[in-house]
Amino acid sequence: MKVAIVGAGLTGSLLACFLARRGLSVSVYERRADPRVGQVERGRSINLAISERGLDALRRIGLVDQVMADALPMKGRMIHPVSGPLDFQPYAASGDRAINSISRSALNNALLSAASAAPGVSVVFEHRLVELDSASGRMVFATPSGKVSVSADVVLGADGAGSAVREQLLAEGIVAEDVDFLDYGYKELSIPAVDGEFALDPGALHIWPRGTSMMIALPNPDKSFTCTLFWPAGSFDALTTGAEVSAYFAEHYPDLLPLAPDLVDDYLNNPVGVLGTVHTLPWQAHGRTALLGDAAHAIVPFYGQGANCAFEDVVELDRCLDDTGGSWARALRLFEARRRENTEAIAEMALANFVEMRDKVASPVFRLTKQIEHF
Ligand code: FAD
Repeated sequence: MKVAIVGAGLTGSLLACFLARRGLSVSVYERRADPRVGQVERGRSINLAISERGLDALRRIGLVDQVMADALPMKGRMIHPVSGPLDFQPYAASGDRAINSISRSALNNALLSAASAAPGVSVVFEHRLVELDSASGRMVFATPSGKVSVSADVVLGADGAGSAVREQLLAEGIVAEDVDFLDYGYKELSIPAVDGEFALDPGALHIWPRGTSMMIALPNPDKSFTCTLFWPAGSFDALTTGAEVSAYFAEHYPDLLPLAPDLVDDYLNNPVGVLGTVHTLPWQAHGRTALLGDAAHAIVPFYGQGANCAFEDVVELDRCLDDTGGSWARALRLFEARRRENTEAIAEMALANFVEMRDKVASPVFRLTKQIEHF
């Protein structure tokens, strides 16, 4: 039985680790070069909040200690008003519960190394899926040395929000998709360490709620913070010179200015990312081709749950294979039946949490007494 996974991001590389334990022959095809030997891809979030949902998956493949060694637990939100004191809002009334700031590239590299080392798994880089016949499992990849055609018994699309596998299923008339782009974009800025120490409290997720927009910051192991601006999409273009950027931040994010010496450079040079929710129906075709993670159900990042949710997909698919005695056709249908409602719920909650983070957390009467699993 040959299984092909398209995409060696967080979902694809974790999935390869799980499937290897079943003694399957697994080939993972990734369009990028090996990130462990090259430059980190820009434009995606540098760090991620990983919560219990994600840790559960890592625990099952024995990787949780390695990943958590560099994690920075964040026990609550630190609210930065325009003026006045900071306000720490713990996620839990008592105890040590926290969400964890983890480097995306370190997590991806750890998963890739675990997948590459697993028996039966091969990871092939610089292979971009360009054609797929979902009924036969035939795939064509564009590679630096030309097009390559391969076949597999099972094809799993873990190729992210802009999934080529989903696009092929759409072209075949098998799936319907609905991509709701948010009228907001995101841009990353950085706060470096000061004299080798964190410039802000590393035990919190920092939020600058500004009504219709916001900024957040998560700590990194090198004692820097990565900030992410979430602003109405067109508004990034309104600031075009260093003077305009400095003046705007002095007025709206005054405590950031002294902490971010590269603010103007970061602002003027870093890309604006798009945000959206992907709804796909169904997630599988012919009992042999399926979508997982962002490829099936990308969500906006305001609940900090996209990767956590993708990791849950992998655990659930593994469970479905157990429950169906390894029948892929039945397992893929069962997987969709069990996961769809949950992923739709988290997609809605992620959108709702944007309003909470950018607006309600700043209210004097607002105190978080709910669950801890999110930002
Ligand atoms: P991706 O990470 O997109 O990986 C897809 C892989 O497929 C990539 O390696 C890509 O190169 C490859 N690929 C694409 N097309 C092809 C092709 N044609 N052929 C071969 N390979 C291909 N989630 C959290 O849980 N916590 C957070 O705090 C969090 N913060 C976020 C902040 C931001 C700003 C954003 C945008 C997202 C955030 N997320 C967070 C969501 C998280 O990033 C995604 O849910 C997660 O990356 C999904 O993993 P994936 O492997 O399914 O997709």
